[in-house]
Amino acid sequence: MAKDGNCSLEFFPPKTSAGREKLLNDTLPALASLNPEYCSVTYGAGGSTRDTTVAAVEAITAAGQDVAPHLSFGSDNRETLQGLLENYRQLGVRRLVALRGDASVNDETGDERCIYANELVSFIRETTGDHFDIKVAAYPEIHPEAVSYSRDIDFLMAKLDAGANAAVTQYFFNVESYFYFMDRCAAAGITQPIHPGVMPITNFTNLMRFSAACGAEIPRWIRLRMEDFAEDSESAYQFGIEVISQLCATLIDSGAPPIHFYTMNQAEPVCTIAQNIGLLKGGNNDAGDQALQRSVA
Ligand code: FAD
Repeated sequence: MAKDGNCSLEFFPPKTSAGREKLLNDTLPALASLNPEYCSVTYGAGGSTRDTTVAAVEAITAAGQDVAPHLSFGSDNRETLQGLLENYRQLGVRRLVALRGDASVNDETGDERCIYANELVSFIRETTGDHFDIKVAAYPEIHPEAVSYSRDIDFLMAKLDAGANAAVTQYFFNVESYFYFMDRCAAAGITQPIHPGVMPITNFTNLMRFSAACGAEIPRWIRLRMEDFAEDSESAYQFGIEVISQLCATLIDSGAPPIHFYTMNQAEPVCTIAQNIGLLKGGNNDAGDQALQRSVA
C-alpha cells in the first residue's frame, strides 16, 4: 500500500561502488528518519544511466523504500521502454517520474530527437494502464525552452491530461515564483498537486552553473552574500541552510504539498533543514543518528 510521508527525496544513481555503499549504508538510513513518501532516482540524459538507475532502484527498494524511477525516451524506441517498464513492474515499483529529458552530450547517434513528456505519459498509460502513479516536471520560473509562460502551463496541463497524477517542480529560490505559478495553474484548471522541489545550497559554484542551464534564478542578494563567504566555507554552508530552511518554512506555512528534496546524495543538509522546520522530530533515533554521523565523515 502506498504510504503517506513528510516529503520525497531525490537521488542520482552512484557511479562507483564507494558511492553506492555510502548511499545505502549512510545517506539513505539517515534520511529515512524523515519518513519519505518515496525516493526517486534520476535517469541520465538520453538513457545514459539506464543500468545504474535500475541498480539503484533495486537497492533502494530492497532497503524498504517506495521508489520512483525517473524515465525518458531519450533515443530509445518503444520496445526498449516497454521492457524497462515491465522490469520495474516486476520489481514491485508503483511510481514513475516521466520526463522528456535533455539530449545526451554523449549521444553518438547524433539523434537529437526528444519525445515530449506528455507523449511518454500517454505511452505509459497505454502500455501499463493504471499500474504506476506518474509524476511530471513543472517549472515555476518556466522551462528555458518554453515559447511563453502560458504555453508552458498549457504543456504542463497536457502532461496531466495525458494521465499524470501530480507534478514536481524544478527548484527555485524565489518563493513568489512558486506562489504565482500555483495561481496561474489553478486559473488554467489544473487541480493535481504540484510539489515544490527544493535544492539545498551546498556547492555554490556548481549550483550557479547548473542553475544557469536549467533556468532557476539565483537572487542577487544570495549570490552577493555567498561572495562574502568565498573564503569561509562553513559560513557559506550555514547561510545556505538558513536560506533554504526559511524557504521550506514559508512553503509549509502556505499549505504547499509535501516538499521534494533534491538531496544530491547527501544526508546532512536535508536533515538539518528538516530539523529546522520541524519535519525531523528530535528524539531517540540512534540508528539514524549514527548513519548521519557516518554520512558526514
Ligand atoms: P516537457 O514537459 O516535454 O517540456 C519540454 C519543453 O517543451 C518545454 O519548454 C515545454 O514548454 C515544451 N513542450 C512540452 N510539450 C510540448 C509539446 N507537446 N509540443 C511543443 N512543445 C512542448 N533530466 C534528466 O535528464 N534526468 C532526470 O532524471 C531528470 N529529472 C528531473 C526531475 C524534475 C522534478 C525536474 C523538474 C526536472 C528533471 N530533469 C531531468 C530535467 C528535465 O529533463 C529537463 O528540464 C527537460 O529539458 C524537460 O523535461 P520535461 O519532462 O519537463 O519536458
